[in-house]
Amino acid sequence: MTAHHDTDRLAGVPAEQKARLLSGKNFWETEALEEAGIPVISMADGPYGLRHQSGRHDNLALFDSDKATCFPPGVAIGSSWDPDTAARLGAVLGREAAAQGVDVVLGPGINIKRSPLCGRNFEYYSEDPHLSGVLGAAFARALQTEGPGVSVKHFAANNQETNRQTISSEVDERTLREIYLPAFERVVTEARPATVMASYNKINGVAASENRWLLTEVLRDEWGFDGVVVSDWSAVTDRVAALKAGLDLEMPGGAMGHDDDVIEALRSGEISESDIDASVARIAALSRRKVTSAVTVDEDAHHEIARRIAQECAVLLKNERQVLPIPSGAHVAVIGAFADQPRYQGGGSAHVNPTRVDKPLDEMRAIAAEEGVTITYAPGFAIDGPQDERLAADAIAAASRADIAVVFAGLSEERESEGFDRDTIDLPSPQVELIRDVAAAASRTVVVLANGGIVSLEQWHDDVDAILEGFLLGQGGGRALADILFGRVNPSGHLAESVPIRLQDHPSWLNFPGEQGHVRYGEGVLVGYRYFATSRTPVRYPFGHGLSYTTFETPALSVTRTGIDSATAHVEVANTGNMAGKHVVQVYVSTEAGPVRRPVRELRGFAKVHLEPGETKTVEIDLPRRAFAYWDIAAGRWVVAPGDYRIEVCADANTVLQSSALTLEGERIATELTMDTPVGAWFEHPQVGSDVMDTLGLTGAPVTEEQLAMIASMTMRQFIGISGLNVSTDALQALMTASRPI
Ligand code: BGC
Repeated sequence: MTAHHDTDRLAGVPAEQKARLLSGKNFWETEALEEAGIPVISMADGPYGLRHQSGRHDNLALFDSDKATCFPPGVAIGSSWDPDTAARLGAVLGREAAAQGVDVVLGPGINIKRSPLCGRNFEYYSEDPHLSGVLGAAFARALQTEGPGVSVKHFAANNQETNRQTISSEVDERTLREIYLPAFERVVTEARPATVMASYNKINGVAASENRWLLTEVLRDEWGFDGVVVSDWSAVTDRVAALKAGLDLEMPGGAMGHDDDVIEALRSGEISESDIDASVARIAALSRRKVTSAVTVDEDAHHEIARRIAQECAVLLKNERQVLPIPSGAHVAVIGAFADQPRYQGGGSAHVNPTRVDKPLDEMRAIAAEEGVTITYAPGFAIDGPQDERLAADAIAAASRADIAVVFAGLSEERESEGFDRDTIDLPSPQVELIRDVAAAASRTVVVLANGGIVSLEQWHDDVDAILEGFLLGQGGGRALADILFGRVNPSGHLAESVPIRLQDHPSWLNFPGEQGHVRYGEGVLVGYRYFATSRTPVRYPFGHGLSYTTFETPALSVTRTGIDSATAHVEVANTGNMAGKHVVQVYVSTEAGPVRRPVRELRGFAKVHLEPGETKTVEIDLPRRAFAYWDIAAGRWVVAPGDYRIEVCADANTVLQSSALTLEGERIATELTMDTPVGAWFEHPQVGSDVMDTLGLTGAPVTEEQLAMIASMTMRQFIGISGLNVSTDALQALMTASRPI
């Protein structure tokens, strides 16, 4: 069936009836229009597991949802740096959705992690738009292949929870285009998501749900989106403005919907019936997503997949004296309440009611029995409880008797969730003290972390031998961590966000979470590692960092041109250690070309490759024109500046392994000169710049560099007036005419 058919089916349906489709029937479902053959469409969160409520409904996860597999949340998928892993998650989620009769899954969440404090960072992938976009597109494509649709969210510039419903994100257009929109653009253009969810916040003063520039000009006209724009839950305040901006479906509906406002606006002539029809046709087209085939889910198989996905995601941050993997025969003290009460997912609308949960302690015991390893357990602290001297003393005693102490530390769900931001990145102090005391008592100490947003490692980093950052790994995370700790799985996760030394070092620090209703994105495009690397501000661990039990080398890089402003990087990588493992090839582009401040390097391509010991592979990374472009605000488009570029293969955002130079022809943007253009811009103009001295009659005149620098920022009008030069108006006019973009 085509959209045309949908329009036919709707012909003759009274406007009042059609308008009912513009908001949901209840919390999770759309309205049906039987006479036009439009069924109810059912939606459910979320990004890493279904929260389908067949009982009582809400979007704060106050009421239980039906059981579903809790897969690793976005923070883990981001750290996998693996589109195949994201796709695997999408596919199983699609199948669970189909089995539960869910037609649209409310995910993926792909907002940029602008600040480590954002309460929803656990749901999002990365501080980098390329990584977020590639993973989001892989997830969305795979999920939709199973039948149900996705809702890519939250569009856009929704990067904090503080006042998320009312805050205005003040972002310049270059920053929006280069940082906050590209992940959405990639998902929309590559995966054709069924729906896009408009966020709660305002962007430069205009609510996302009423933002015509965002929802129509960028999303539909530029990116070609033809699906449904759905509101975040209760985001709509002015339904008519939202409809005019391009928001099709208001959720939730029922008593909360504003269909009457639409009807009134139709009667008053503020909108026309065709405004309603455009959105209704898209909602009718969405109804073809209705899941009809009977699908069943094998819970055990999905639990196993949840474990496998989790194996790809944990990040080995530090491993001195090769304390990991745990050798056979060792005596291990497992410490920390999180070993027995794992933190594996986030809070809020994404919260999943898991089918079962692996406990790291149980899984370690199971493997230990096979490896001749003995395990003792001491909780050491009560999660979120006050300092407990007795628990701590028992744990320290156990650590002092063991060969290796493995401390499970982290943040509870109460400390980070949708709906609020953190105000610190520190671990609770009883845990910090315990880690330090255990490290002093044990001969070797490993810390395993469970947290949705990054935590500071500063108070104890140097005291311990190894740190395994598990973030949140879903219901199979306990097994995945045990597999990694014992070396049954080689860790291959990498940081998708920087770990700063001090929160105050972070580029968002001075402008987060805003004040008096506004949050200024003052760091511009210098988000995350783009800032740390450019300003050479030290970090504890840079974006892209992640260790393995084997060693990888990058012996060669060659770059071939594929077009005027595009190239392919051929990267040779080798596993030089003695264990099979996965390596992430990271390719960045570095340049100072163009009239705008460029970050020192930006991730433009990556690939995760499996290598047997001794194996070498050559990986090809495409660098299309966009990999070199910046957003030119004056020209209103992507521009490749002429000049020198470096293609860098990096171990992380701070560590260049190989690099290769490339000079690009690019284009010099010519803006039309006027009498009010600064004189400096006249001199630099690509078409007429070389004639300006002559026209001003200054060729051969004793003008010093300092004088030229002084006049550079005066407008031509001011300069002519002040200088008293007798310049022909016709000659200037001729230059202005010749300066028009060709
Ligand atoms: C969240 C969305 C979610 C929706 C439905 C909102 O509060 O921001 O991410 O999909 O609720 O639960």
